[in-house]
Amino acid sequence: MAILLYPTRGCNLGCLYCFQRPGLPRPGAMRDWEEMDWEGIRKALRLLKQYRNSCGTEVVLHGGEPTSVPLDVLERLMKLIRSEGFNVGMQSNGYAITEDHIRLFKRYGCHVGISVDGFPDINTLRGFFDEQGREIKPASEEYRKRVMENLEILISEKLCGGVITILHRANAGDARRLERLKEFLKWLEERGAQSVRLNPMSADAGPAKAYELTNEELARAYIELYEYCKGLRLKVSPFIDMRRTLLGERETVCWFSGCHLYDSLVWAIDNRGNILSCDRILGWGTLLRPSQLPHTDMFRMQVRTLALLQTELRDDPYAHLHRGGCPAEGIGGDWRRPSRFVPAFDKLFAKIEEDLRKALPDAIFPTEYPDKVRYVKMIDAGYRWDIWRGDFTR
Ligand code: SF4
Repeated sequence: MAILLYPTRGCNLGCLYCFQRPGLPRPGAMRDWEEMDWEGIRKALRLLKQYRNSCGTEVVLHGGEPTSVPLDVLERLMKLIRSEGFNVGMQSNGYAITEDHIRLFKRYGCHVGISVDGFPDINTLRGFFDEQGREIKPASEEYRKRVMENLEILISEKLCGGVITILHRANAGDARRLERLKEFLKWLEERGAQSVRLNPMSADAGPAKAYELTNEELARAYIELYEYCKGLRLKVSPFIDMRRTLLGERETVCWFSGCHLYDSLVWAIDNRGNILSCDRILGWGTLLRPSQLPHTDMFRMQVRTLALLQTELRDDPYAHLHRGGCPAEGIGGDWRRPSRFVPAFDKLFAKIEEDLRKALPDAIFPTEYPDKVRYVKMIDAGYRWDIWRGDFTR
């Protein structure tokens, strides 16, 4: 896990599906880095340092878009983060990265994750869209060209910390687009990228809703991409996470960790030093974390997961492995309910389990354990599932 730090909530793009969109200032509308409370941020970092085992050892500059912040402010932040004993990273849309940024990244050992949805012809929901969802085409086209150039530079400089690609109808909605997405993954591999995360796009309303994949479409896309990625050296999430959980391990992507909306698995710090919940819910308003750190008893005891295992997900064979998924994609916008994409996750789990069973015919998988509630409690108590003994082990 990492700690996110938002030097700004503003962004130089206006992507159609941005989950921060309802609360996101339009490009240039905000200079919130000018109100940075440096002492407040230092205090927040010192506080979270005590909880390293839960929060992680990396602070990722996030936003908004962190490259919207002047270079000297970015450098001061990187210095502060390093002086408090954390590694520094960044998650960026990749549009405004310059040679000066590259020098800065090298100086502070900062790896940069890039959010991009494929080659320009399928990366069509990211770019410049106004409040009504109308696109400013020439500006978007320029962005799409530049992000590919910058991504290539970051990879060749060994500064790319991974790629996040959001799946939606514009890049995974039909066979032709899926082919292009595969070509993009191949392109990444050939240039030396190490890891990619494929997240489903979720939208509760607005112009992006039409691009949300149905569970059937998402399952088809995931399974096709999973098959394709078997031949690549890339580490692709959620495939590796599903494989890991099927093999009885605890370490997995945040969506399969039983996240709680007000007390998420990810920590964030804003420009005033407030400690917040996950960035995915910034569009719902800013949620200060409860004062009980690192997690509340509600989270520690996995109240949402256990409730789901006994109600809506009672008959789901993979529920103890995905724990209901990300609460920010809860059915009907209700964080207490399972992610709307659980049926697609289950199909992908089934496919990966089928492959593992062929490869490991003597293994006993966690899906065979009858008491899913106990399974979650044992894993959270520090046990792992031993597929060779069919039992828990330390
Ligand atoms: S709200 Fe969703 S994206 Fe955020 S930490 Fe939780 S599971 Fe992950």
